[in-house]
Amino acid sequence: NRTVVIVGRPNVGKSRLFNRLARKRISIVHDQPGVTRDVISADIEDGGYTLLDTGGLGFKGDDGNLSLAALTRASETQVDFAIETAQLILFVIDGLEGLTALDMTIARMLRKSKKDVLLVVNKADFDDDKVDLAEAYRLGLGEPLRVSAEHGRSESYLREEILKRIGTVPEVEEATGPKTSADPLCVCFIGRPNVGKSSLSNRLLRSDRLIVSDVPGTTRDAISLPFEFKGRNGKMYPFRLIDTAGIKTQTKLASPVEYFSRLRSLDAIKETDVVFLVLDAIDGVTQQDKAIAGEAVKERKPIVIVVNKWDVVRDAFKKGEDPNCAPEAAIHGFDSERDYRKKYERSIFDSLFFTPGAPVIFASAMSGYEVDRMLNAAVQLNRILDTKMPTAKLNKTINYLTERTPPPAIGGKRFRAYYALQTGNRPFRIKIFCNREEKLTEQYRRYLEAGLVDAFELNGCPIYFELVGKE
Ligand code: GDP
Repeated sequence: NRTVVIVGRPNVGKSRLFNRLARKRISIVHDQPGVTRDVISADIEDGGYTLLDTGGLGFKGDDGNLSLAALTRASETQVDFAIETAQLILFVIDGLEGLTALDMTIARMLRKSKKDVLLVVNKADFDDDKVDLAEAYRLGLGEPLRVSAEHGRSESYLREEILKRIGTVPEVEEATGPKTSADPLCVCFIGRPNVGKSSLSNRLLRSDRLIVSDVPGTTRDAISLPFEFKGRNGKMYPFRLIDTAGIKTQTKLASPVEYFSRLRSLDAIKETDVVFLVLDAIDGVTQQDKAIAGEAVKERKPIVIVVNKWDVVRDAFKKGEDPNCAPEAAIHGFDSERDYRKKYERSIFDSLFFTPGAPVIFASAMSGYEVDRMLNAAVQLNRILDTKMPTAKLNKTINYLTERTPPPAIGGKRFRAYYALQTGNRPFRIKIFCNREEKLTEQYRRYLEAGLVDAFELNGCPIYFELVGKE
């Protein structure tokens, strides 16, 4: 995973070493208890790895004079964290002071973990050997490497050794999903009965698009129909339409047949890359629409919102008539097609708030209006799904978000994110090491998700957070 984590008891010079490797001049020296920044990360570009300093982790922030017990607890938290995240651990000890009981405790934990550990003896500023290497050897963590973070002694040697351990050439980007861009893009329509799913399907599968030679295969009950689409750039994109029998919400299930057809639709969602959620231009966003959108969100699928039957709205305004929108649709006081569209969009943002940034397309199965745009949006979302979020930027963004709007205190304690990294793409998965999982409220989770979607331009793609509590 190309993550290198620095551990060691306070004052051995971890953050100096971090700054040197990260080629930063000086930042906060948080190696003193009390100054906390939890975990600090930097992307080391020439080495292709992420470097973490855990020096602030486990300290409460207000304890000036720490007892040995408190120091030990904090160090254990840091080492735990390192063992869980690191490919390689840099264990720093103080060459001038020699080994302490806490060093021994840390060494014991590291030996037990079977992780790759590089023992770094810091503050070996000069050749005079105040540094007792024999002692360091006794830690049972292999050959110690003498460095001086302060003066840069053995810096290049340390860099080389790190690369030797984690491998110089970054591994071939591990495929995080089953897809490559040459695979057909699977889409499906979900929505209430009569919003126009079948009509939109027929529209997509018309004439030039449908690949007739290919016999529709079946995937777990859902039918999959291949077709091709010429994108905006003139490129042909292979697609598959996964056909569903239409989702019914739980409460409306009348018969076993309906029950099974619902299951089928859920399967369809699972196999889909991008979901088209179809709404009716006249009905507005209904309760049932929300429930159906929820199914897609539960699977963390990217969503394109299609407002179908736009031809009706357009014709009405052309004729100077009222489009007769449903009274329960939260769309009022419109005076033009443009205005109606704006108000419809607003009602989507208000009631489908759990799909951050999903594109909204006003279309018509009947006239074919904007149907290409729907497919272009799907292509775009599919491309977004390949986004890699660099660890340092990810953490900076989360820091920024939590500083801008701090998490609410739950039972006197706030959610606190120590460190995050992306672990997957389809769907986006972000692992967050935090104080306690249960301190993240659903509302705050959504706030973080929306903030990240915004920062990394992941519009329409939900993010799954995997929380690992460390307290
Ligand atoms: P499904 O149940 O979601 O598959 O909906 P259908 O595709 O069967 O469509 C339901 C009704 O809406 C049919 O009478 C269609 O002709 C009509 N319909 C579907 N799309 C449009 C559209 O874009 N414009 C208009 N005016 N009618 C549509």
